[in-house]
Amino acid sequence: MDNSVPALNFIEKIIEDDLTNGFSSKSLRFRFPPEPNGFLHIGHVKAICLNFNLGLKYNAPVNLRFDDTNPQNEESKYVEAIKEDIKWLGYKWNKECYASDYFEQLYKWALFLIDNNLAYVDSQSSELIAEQKGTPLSPGSESPFRNQPPAKSRKTFVEMSEGKHPEGSYVLRAKIDMKSPNMLMRDPVIYRVLDKTHHRTRDKWKVYPTYDWTHGESDYIEQISHSLCTLEFKPHRDLYDWFLKTLPINKSIPKQTEFARLNLSYTVTSKRKLKQLVDKQLVNGWDDPRMPTISGLRRRGYTSESLRLFVETAGIAKRENIIEASLLEFCARDHLNKIAPRVNAVLNPVKLTIINYDKHEELLSGEINPEQIDLGTREIPFSKNLLIEREDFKEEANRKFFRLTLGKEVRLKNAYIIKGESVVKNEEGKVVEILCSYDKDSKSGSGSEASKRKVKGTLHWVSEKHAIKVKVNIYDRLFVDPSPDQHKDKSFIDFVNPNSLITQSAFVEPSILSAKQGSSYQFQRVGYFNLDKKSSPTNFIFNKTVGLRDSWVKKK
Ligand code: ATP
Ligand code: MG
Repeated sequence: MDNSVPALNFIEKIIEDDLTNGFSSKSLRFRFPPEPNGFLHIGHVKAICLNFNLGLKYNAPVNLRFDDTNPQNEESKYVEAIKEDIKWLGYKWNKECYASDYFEQLYKWALFLIDNNLAYVDSQSSELIAEQKGTPLSPGSESPFRNQPPAKSRKTFVEMSEGKHPEGSYVLRAKIDMKSPNMLMRDPVIYRVLDKTHHRTRDKWKVYPTYDWTHGESDYIEQISHSLCTLEFKPHRDLYDWFLKTLPINKSIPKQTEFARLNLSYTVTSKRKLKQLVDKQLVNGWDDPRMPTISGLRRRGYTSESLRLFVETAGIAKRENIIEASLLEFCARDHLNKIAPRVNAVLNPVKLTIINYDKHEELLSGEINPEQIDLGTREIPFSKNLLIEREDFKEEANRKFFRLTLGKEVRLKNAYIIKGESVVKNEEGKVVEILCSYDKDSKSGSGSEASKRKVKGTLHWVSEKHAIKVKVNIYDRLFVDPSPDQHKDKSFIDFVNPNSLITQSAFVEPSILSAKQGSSYQFQRVGYFNLDKKSSPTNFIFNKTVGLRDSWVKKK
């Protein structure tokens, strides 16, 4: 057993330092703040695990806060999906909060800024405002409205909030520093007029606060101690701190710390981009098993344990990098191997007949899961006519081919040793049936001498008349490029893989009949498969989660 204490990540180190310097552990408080404008993705798993694991480690509350300041994109169906995903990952939030619950307070604070000559209403176009901002190397120029009397700004702002001015007519800007080296400090917009129905406040508000104006204040209201966000928010930190320094508040001030986003190869991790795939119908909804969304990965058969293992293995870093999709697959295999019942399933069948098998049929037994011996065994029907994978047979093969060929022996998993005798071909010369003989004393687990005989290959099979025909969805990567959204001249949409889904049938042993929605199986020698939500008892549909390294062919 590994008794070493895991090294602290850099955020834990910051917290430990704060505690050493007198910050009370009772005041630790974290939050996960998604905007309800889409479904959560694998990147969010990192942010969720980071915050909630800190909560568990320090016995501190973690709020779920919906950052719902933009009514144009937000919907309650996303709120519900986000809650379901976090629960499924195994975490419990302390309070369910909404930035929109703070609209009243934010509005009052905005009036405070105006009255103290720290904010002003501007009626210029957004293009003009952007132009006046200057560039990172040259200072911006002041808006002609910057020095208008606070009373005038106040009057207009109140009118804006009463719906007296149309969308785009005015904005409220914080009066900070048009020469700041940080462009975000050059009098940022903190309110805009939007005539949209909000998913919670409905039509009450006509002005909506911006992300920057809302986030730090929401953290303050909830008394979050450590506000953790991804690196793209680093330049926003000056603004975050300025607002909290400027407002008439006297409780503890939260501290923002940034960590690197999780990027995964061959996919995109941004709700906005994923929404485009859904809207353009390039995938079948947010929970399409090809999507890197939590709901898509769940439907594909990834377990919450495997996703948590994945983000833990990827680690918390200060610098951006791209994690290989193969690590995610490794984590899925690692967990599914421990929990998935084994079954025999043949995807591309060819018929195999045992010519000297003179019994009608018999029941053999196989372990449900060799990783969990106490689960016991399952019954597997065996008969004269079987199906095996077409690729497991070659009429003639070289010495490295350890599967079935004429004149050589292989073992049928959990059954007997067989030998290829001859083939039946159709008019085109294609093999339609393989005729074999079997050694009746070689039954697996019988303890006989013959059963202990070593043969090089072991094949999976199903009894033809007992096989259950099911549908399987086999997925390839959703994008053909490892970094689809990193091309200057092309959109990530251009890299969508047109062949990312193949649907075919498979023939599975009858123990599959007890499968329940969402349960995972190992189709032996093939991979892990999960029963899809659209499946029914008369029409089983399985999603391939991930392939299996074909290791025991040689081992056994
Ligand atoms: P959008 O594309 O709409 O901005 P998003 O995917 O960036 O969506 P947000 O709702 O903005 O998601 O993010 C919620 C929280 O999750 C934020 O704290 C953000 O920093 C974090 N987060 C988002 N994407 C990642 C990622 N890839 N890795 C780690 N954390 C992330
Ligand atoms: Mg974002």
